[in-house]
Amino acid sequence: MTPASSAASADLFSRAQQVIPSGVNSPVRAFGSVGGTPPFLTSAKGALLHDADGREYVDLVGSWGPMILGHANEQVVEAVREAAGRGLSFGAPQPGEVSLVEEVVDRVRPVEQLRLVNSGTEATMSALRVARAATGRDVVVKFAGCYHGHVDALLAEAGSGVATFAMPGSAGVTTATARDTVVLPYGDREAVTALFAERGEEIAAVITEAAPANMGVVPPLVRDGVGFNRFLAETAHAAGALLISDEVLTGFRASREGYYGIDGPHGSGGDWAPDLMTFGKVIGGGLPVGAFGGRRDLMGLLAPAGPVYQAGTLSGNPLATAAGLATFAGLDEAAYAQLDTASTALQQLVGEALGTAGVPHVIQTAGSLFSVFFREEPVTGYEGAKAQDTEAFTRFFHAMLEGGVHLPPSAFEAWFVSTAHTPEILDRIAQVLPAAARAAAGS
Ligand SMILES: *Cc1c(COP(=O)(O)O)cnc(C)c1O
Repeated sequence: MTPASSAASADLFSRAQQVIPSGVNSPVRAFGSVGGTPPFLTSAKGALLHDADGREYVDLVGSWGPMILGHANEQVVEAVREAAGRGLSFGAPQPGEVSLVEEVVDRVRPVEQLRLVNSGTEATMSALRVARAATGRDVVVKFAGCYHGHVDALLAEAGSGVATFAMPGSAGVTTATARDTVVLPYGDREAVTALFAERGEEIAAVITEAAPANMGVVPPLVRDGVGFNRFLAETAHAAGALLISDEVLTGFRASREGYYGIDGPHGSGGDWAPDLMTFGKVIGGGLPVGAFGGRRDLMGLLAPAGPVYQAGTLSGNPLATAAGLATFAGLDEAAYAQLDTASTALQQLVGEALGTAGVPHVIQTAGSLFSVFFREEPVTGYEGAKAQDTEAFTRFFHAMLEGGVHLPPSAFEAWFVSTAHTPEILDRIAQVLPAAARAAAGS
């Protein structure tokens, strides 16, 4: 990239670094692992982004998931505009909350009741509190490489930004908190069984990403006809513990019913259910929304009826629910078919380009979600994800950016397509891929 072409972003970044830690409000945006200056974005439409220097990019980040209908989708923008004209926030019940929650209850079978919050982090934090209250136990089990937001108890060996920066967890988390979290290797049924045999009576809940996508995409595997999530539900239930399925990223993306639509009773996984589920990203259509829900008896523990306190000044915000509802309205079967088509076509293009250039890689999927690992062997957990050639990824990333394709700036993230990723848009990506693949190969 010639310095002149990113002068405006560089100037903004240097101003930002003076007053915002590392110049960003979420770590991965700082380009820490790939280096360079992040483009400062000024507008977006469909699958395209525009930066402060007037450059245009095809977007494969999609704000990390929410922009599933493409940026500035007309129906979504119009719904938000209309809602804004009626008032920005009431701090009191409003009709949009009811409609949005009804939509989720209608789509996702295990969700009988749901409460709206403002982020995925709040959702997992609150679900954990409910699980501990319901069981009267303290210990939570999570899997290495799974990211559940920046909740103290859940930062140990998390993926996403924590993977990107190779931090073991986080400073500022108390030993007492860390002591109540047990981290196991993802997919390791023997380790789960052994832990429950030893400490089953202390365990409040197991929390897992329904399909891990924050260490790259590592789908849950089926063994003897039983998927990993179902195994977790059965093992937890046998010990009086709960399963929290984190669908913040997969929810309403992997299918109409999220990943549960793939490995639950509406998919091929048989009759099982998590006790609590968490949502975010798509549910807010680009505005700050998270949600947690599940069994009615568990959700009944929440204040004011129950003893578990949880609240939010802006929770159920009318603009946010309008954006979520308009996004759900656009997510019909045709939209999911479109996402699948775009994802499959893009995977093929990337696989061909990397293959031709002789770059070791493996593409892994969970529904239309996919990621590219720069190594030969399939990845089944965090150790494998970390054993990829991140330098090859960095070269690939910068060549793609230079060519006008905006990828996640980390080798540990999923790539996100939207219904706006038409064949013409994929064509533009195809133009850039061969040179980027050669850059990755180091030739
Ligand atoms: C993004 C994410 C979160 C955190 O959501 P925020 O809105 O960023 O707080 C939690 N869990 C999963 C699986 C996620 O992908």
